[in-house]
Amino acid sequence: MVARSDKTTDPRLQEELLQARRGTAFFARKLNELSDAELDRASLLPGWTRRHVIAHIGYNARAISRLVKWAATGVENPMYTSKEIRDHEIDFGATLTPIALRNLFDHAAIHLNVEWRDLPSDAWHHKVKTIQGRLVPAEETIWMRTREVWVHAVDLDNGASFKDIPAPVLNRLLQDITGAWASRGTDKDLIGRVNDYPELSFGDKEARTPVQISGSLADLACWATGRGTAGVTASQSGKIFAVTPVAPTWI
Ligand code: ZN
Repeated sequence: MVARSDKTTDPRLQEELLQARRGTAFFARKLNELSDAELDRASLLPGWTRRHVIAHIGYNARAISRLVKWAATGVENPMYTSKEIRDHEIDFGATLTPIALRNLFDHAAIHLNVEWRDLPSDAWHHKVKTIQGRLVPAEETIWMRTREVWVHAVDLDNGASFKDIPAPVLNRLLQDITGAWASRGTDKDLIGRVNDYPELSFGDKEARTPVQISGSLADLACWATGRGTAGVTASQSGKIFAVTPVAPTWI
């Protein structure tokens, strides 16, 4: 049988789809390393077990599939009816049997991949709505998913780290987060220096005596998502802080 391929021929979208698929494969690998009993343990996210993370990733694929379907048909198909329903769905999903949880992840990921594969070139520009109510072109669904699978693979807390995430994904993640800080003004008096990618430096360029945060792209992205300060140092006027401050809120 001939392998079916993406309808889009845009090399940029194909490259982005590759990062999403790699992230899905990475999440699947970390999930497969966990025994059924280990699913009950805590994840890195406060109040969530690994079961919650897996259920969230499964339902997230379904929600993003709805947006891709919307782009394909023109019939409005929101991610979730409401935030409450989304949260309720995750709590419910976390109670599924291990085999049902694993199937939810697998089937939802396969379904999303089919929706992406079959989306005609012109439909990638059709507008759909995120859970925050933002109107975005359907091509944004690739990034929405990419971010989720890579970051939540780390949240499973069985060995994945931000160092496993490809640099282009970390780069976009950091730009997303620091861009949100800049538009809210929550990065006031803060400057970030990315040691291995100096051009990605961010923050309040007007500050006279800023707190300077520095680290590798992987460590700064980890810090910026609120997942710890390992490898990140902070200083002000040349004086190094004993404790690195936590990052401004992301979402
Ligand atoms: Zn998430």
